[in-house]
Amino acid sequence: MKYVDEYRDGNRARQLAEVIAATAAPDRLYRFMEFCGGHTHAISRYGLEDLLPDNIRMIHGPGCPVCVLPAGRIDMAIALAQRPEVTLCVYGDLMRVPGSQRNSLLRAKAAGADVRMVYSTLDAIAIAEQQPAREVVFFAIGFETTTPPSAMAIRLATEKRLGNFSIFCNHVLTPPAIQAILDGVDLADPDQVALDGFVGPAHVSTVIGTRPYEYFAETFAKPVVIAGFEPLDVMQAILMLVQQVNEDRHQVENQYIRAVNRDGNQRAQAAVAEIFELRAQFEWRGLGLIPHSGLKLKPAYAGFDAECRFEMPELTAADNPACECGTILRGVKKPADCKLFGTVCTPDNPMGSCMVSSEGACAAHWTYGRFRDIQRKAS
Ligand code: SF4
Repeated sequence: MKYVDEYRDGNRARQLAEVIAATAAPDRLYRFMEFCGGHTHAISRYGLEDLLPDNIRMIHGPGCPVCVLPAGRIDMAIALAQRPEVTLCVYGDLMRVPGSQRNSLLRAKAAGADVRMVYSTLDAIAIAEQQPAREVVFFAIGFETTTPPSAMAIRLATEKRLGNFSIFCNHVLTPPAIQAILDGVDLADPDQVALDGFVGPAHVSTVIGTRPYEYFAETFAKPVVIAGFEPLDVMQAILMLVQQVNEDRHQVENQYIRAVNRDGNQRAQAAVAEIFELRAQFEWRGLGLIPHSGLKLKPAYAGFDAECRFEMPELTAADNPACECGTILRGVKKPADCKLFGTVCTPDNPMGSCMVSSEGACAAHWTYGRFRDIQRKAS
């Protein structure tokens, strides 16, 4: 297939659904986690769950980078933006993520902080060049997909000898999060979720390849199928997972062969390895502290590290106790299980991070899924 329409062909999707239904054993349950928020969005947008038999359950995972950022790191960014000498450059989604005390970068901007929305690290570099008297900080978040552009920004800032540019690094890693989920699986614990396999991330895997997932497939006996973000990609990945489960196989398979290979993008990996090193641990919303799951700048680049440059204290803050983002990010609950969903919490007035980004499970369900809930209750 060459064009995106072909990956959204409804007739082919229905044919694939028939094959999935015929392949799935009627007497067993298949529980697959889509790790990545892009898959959550595709599943909701194209109504894929309605095409699947009842015994195949899709479980949303913690792969939305905006969603997993804990309130304490948002509070740290707000405190940074409130410094009079700082211009904080952020991606748009981050503006509305609630920190503690219902504060957000949008509110800080309304109160006078210099917070700018940018589309790339290069925008932040350009602002630093245009405003040499300001301290320009890029609020860097995301998984392995967005880390290489941050590394390239540091390289560029070094070449240009930009003394007023730094990044507030919140880059996180996919494999430790998968490990944390699998380590926590305890069938006797109602706060944990049982899984039969993973739909593996698409963009992340273009960078890291399929090799890092082999450990999970072997050690935890869980199949992983790397999948693209179009609806037929996801449907095909589900079929591949069902086949592996039926055959008691637990391998890493690659549905997304048009973009992903086993070794990934080695130039991007080298750029990241040059600039960043592992943190001992990093806090994730919903998953808590996970060892070696986040990155920081190497000591040689400390001058570009906002946490060193501005002596930012590490802040931790509890989430809104009524918000279920934590259990949703662990796959234990669904958005409609949250009492605030669609009442006080909507995309216009988000109470938790899962309602902010379009990749968040609550935002996806609000936009594409809530009417199906009403229809199901009515029928
Ligand atoms: S509906 Fe809102 S408050 Fe509830 S879990 Fe989702 S984001 Fe959190």
